Amino acid sequence: MPSNRTTLIAGNWKMNNDREEAKALASALVEALPEVPAGVEVCVCPPTIDLCCVSHKLDGSAVKLGAQNVYFEAKGAYTGETSVAMLKSVPVQYCIIGHSERRDYFHETDEDQNKKAAALIAGGIVPIFCCGEPLEVREAGTYVEHVVAQVKAGLTGLQVTDPSQLVVAYEPIWAIGTGKTATADDAQEVCGAVREVLAEIFGAELADGIRVLYGGSAKPGNIAELVAKPDVDGALVGGASLVAEDFASMVVKA
Ligand code: PGA
Repeated sequence: MPSNRTTLIAGNWKMNNDREEAKALASALVEALPEVPAGVEVCVCPPTIDLCCVSHKLDGSAVKLGAQNVYFEAKGAYTGETSVAMLKSVPVQYCIIGHSERRDYFHETDEDQNKKAAALIAGGIVPIFCCGEPLEVREAGTYVEHVVAQVKAGLTGLQVTDPSQLVVAYEPIWAIGTGKTATADDAQEVCGAVREVLAEIFGAELADGIRVLYGGSAKPGNIAELVAKPDVDGALVGGASLVAEDFASMVVKA
């Protein structure tokens, strides 16, 4: 990654850990990362119910807080949902949207992602917009077109005036939680294509500053190789973010 972009290592805890476990993991991470290397930013995204208690544990540390989901409406009769303003009041700085698990299991559409991204940006929270192809699309060879279409549908029309307002994460679905990482060259190919489509949408200058992450079995053993690629600006980390020493070691190696 070139020096004008700060590397981001973001942990996606998914639906893991009860309250005490979440607090213990946050504390262990703060202890393992008394400081974050220059040029690297780190955040963790616990389940919504644990955002407040993890926020207290991260207070005063270099580890930032993200959410795993949000609803785009401002308030009202949406049982079970969480608004941007609610996340902001925790406070939360990042929010994952468009993860393949939400698209697949909860039938979220590209249009939903576009509305969520717009609401987050308007509310001052940075969306980590996920995109990525399933195995059959990878095998058919049309993965770049697939990801480019997701990015266009999810991000066109957003009011982005500063590159720090948006993060994109390329997560090939066949590599998520499978132990099968895309090679660094595979990651670069698609992250590079993502940056090109970001340039079409937002202009070359903004696109050059927007972070594009890789996600899918990223771990201490492959992070250095991934972030050495010119268009890979960090990682969205699932499994390895649940072990404080592993996640801390990824931050140090990034
Ligand atoms: P993984 O998950 O690192 O466990 O593959 C990544 C993700 O789904 O964000």
